[in-house]
Parts: sequence; structure tokens; C-alpha cells
Amino acid sequence: MIQKYDFNDTTQLSPHFNVKEFRCKCGKEHETLISDELIEKLEKLYATLNCSQIIVTSGYRCEQHDKNVGGSGTGQHTLGNAADICCYGQDGQPISSKVVCCKAQDIEFRGIANITAAYIYTHVDVRPNGKWYGDEVHSNSTVTDDFYKYFGGEDMKGIDVSVHNGNIDWGKVKADGIDFAIIRAGFGRLEKQKDEKFEQNYAGAKAEGIPVGAYWYSYAMTPEEAELEADVFLSVIKGKQFEMPVYFDLEEKKQFDLGKEQVSAIMRAFLKKVESAGYFVGLYGSASSLTTHTADDIKSWYTIWLAHWVDKTNYSGAYGIWQHSEKGKVAGINGNVDLDICYKDFPTIIKGKGLNGWGKTANPTPAPTDNDSISVEVTVDGKKYSGKLNKS
Ligand SMILES: [Zn+2]
Ligand SMILES: [Zn+2]
Repeated sequence: MIQKYDFNDTTQLSPHFNVKEFRCKCGKEHETLISDELIEKLEKLYATLNCSQIIVTSGYRCEQHDKNVGGSGTGQHTLGNAADICCYGQDGQPISSKVVCCKAQDIEFRGIANITAAYIYTHVDVRPNGKWYGDEVHSNSTVTDDFYKYFGGEDMKGIDVSVHNGNIDWGKVKADGIDFAIIRAGFGRLEKQKDEKFEQNYAGAKAEGIPVGAYWYSYAMTPEEAELEADVFLSVIKGKQFEMPVYFDLEEKKQFDLGKEQVSAIMRAFLKKVESAGYFVGLYGSASSLTTHTADDIKSWYTIWLAHWVDKTNYSGAYGIWQHSEKGKVAGINGNVDLDICYKDFPTIIKGKGLNGWGKTANPTPAPTDNDSISVEVTVDGKKYSGKLNKS
């Protein structure tokens, strides 16, 4: 059912949505049309995503406003069936539109599309006929049948490198399908122990648009030494921007000989210092060291980069990246290289939180404007849908 509300109506339609959020933004004070089913499904989406807030950037549009923002004047927004939304998680950050699209599919919205390249805004609608799934970043040709397959079908494939990999041809690496790289920044607690190829690798990967993270190899035997290592690491990576986490790498035998408690104290000292300097920091570790030498509070708070060189890992803890081989072959790199798989959309998470150098210097999430509209024309099941998606 489509309901009609006066312009000044402020009825609370459901726990998290009020009529006024769906008002047309043309400037005239006219009625608002809203589908009951749209609100019902938006509430389901709110619950499924465990949102702290869903902001409706565009709800109902009168024919004139729809045309003003580039639409046909007859699209789902003009019928009261559609909303463009930004969903926020419990951490107050926008939830990736990739996740929102998948959950909206589960909830059976009939029109769903990611709207912007930042993957933050999502169009959802309850059109009476047919189905339309889209990703506006990749134009109409990418309209998909299954968002899980479309967004989640491929985990990110990556490598981790250091001076030991020699001179790397990052153009070839990129062309070989590598989606990210974790680069050794250095080791120990002296500034001169910066990895000799760190700057070159960082610049090379960045030039190819490959998301980059970094790691620091530790020799610390006490928490105090770990803090000194953190200081050097922070000075080496200062001014750089990382799309992927930065990691603490502790794997020396003499360190493990100190026992779980002392090793965990060393880890905490480094991780806390780097975290408080504004970095999304994680811990690199083998399946066995994570099991036997790493306290639970560390594994539950920091993202884990698991090293386990097997076809199928039996490590039962959580991890964001898995280093599954030390004997990979990748174009542009001589010899063997470590291969990794990433299961999380770290670039979206990290930029969303403004960490890893993305705070003041990075472009913030662009404020939506009515002029940012995108032409849409797709054919689904022989039916043609056309109009404009509008970010605001
Ligand atoms: Zn209007
Ligand atoms: Zn829309």
C-alpha cells in the first residue's frame, strides 16, 4: 500500500523512520508518498545490519523534482517505492554498500543498486513488477542476479614483499591479478633498519593503484623494546597512506622462548602504540604461535594476519588475511613470493575510519548533492527501466 502524508506530517512510521525523512526536496510543500512495504523492509534492513542509523538521502520525489535531478519523472522515487540510503554501523561508520546490497537482496527488495564509487550509498525500492540489481560504478552492464556472487565471489589476492624480493615490476604484478600488497617497512629498533626497498615498493605499488599495507619485523625482548620498535616504525611510515592494515611481525625463536605472557606483553606494547598513533594495526603470526603464544585479548581486539602454508588451514580463530604460501610465482617478481588472501574490505573500513593516514589529508566521503545523478537504463526480463539515480 502506498500512503499519502501531508507535507508537515511528522508521523513516526516505524521505530527508526519518520515521514519527514522521505519528504521531496524540490522546495515546494506538497504531500509525501511512501510505501508501507518500503518502511517494513527498511526496518528489516536496519535490524539485519545492526545499524546505529540509516539516513535517507532521497525518498519521495515529485515528478518535477525527479526530472530536475535528471530522472524520467516516472521512476520508483516518484511512486513512493524507493529510498536512497546510507547505513551506519555500531561504530558510527558507514557500512559498505556491498554489504547493504547483499542484505537488501536477502530481504527481497526488488530494486537494489550501489550508487557511488565510495560504496556507501545504496538505492533500494519495492517496485511492483520485475527486478533490478545494479552497480552504478560499473554502468548498466554489470546489473547482476546475485550480489553475493557479484561482490563476494572473489576474495582479494595479494602478496607480501621485502628487500629479499629484489626489484619488482609492479605493472606486471598488477596485470597478473594481484589486488593488494603488504610491504616490509623494516625491522628492529634502529632507523637505519628501514627495509632498503620499502620506499621503492611503496611508490611502485601506489603508482599501479594497488592497495598497500606494511609490516615491521620484531626483535624486541621486552615491552620497552617493542615501544622503541613502534617509534621507529611510525617514523618510517609517517606521511604515507595505507589502504590495508599495518602489522607487527614477531616470529624469532628467542622471543617465543620468553613464554606466552612476555610475548603477549611485547605484542601489546607495539600494537597499542601504533594503534594510538591512528593506525589500523594487526598482528602477523603462524597458526601455532597464534595458538600457543598469543593471549586471547590480542586476538579478539586486533586483526590477525595468519601464516599457514597449507592448502586448507585448520586454524580456528578469526583472521582477516591468510598467507597461504611462501612459494608463489607472480609476474614481475623474480623467484618465490609469499601469497595472501584477504577476506575483508579493509580499504573501505580503513578509509571510512580515517586511519592509516586517511584522516585529514584524504578526501572525506563526498557530500551528496542533487547534481550527482547517474543515468540508468536497463532491461530486465524484457522490461525496460530508465531514469536517474540520485545521490541526494
Ligand atoms: Zn517535490
Ligand atoms: Zn534511488
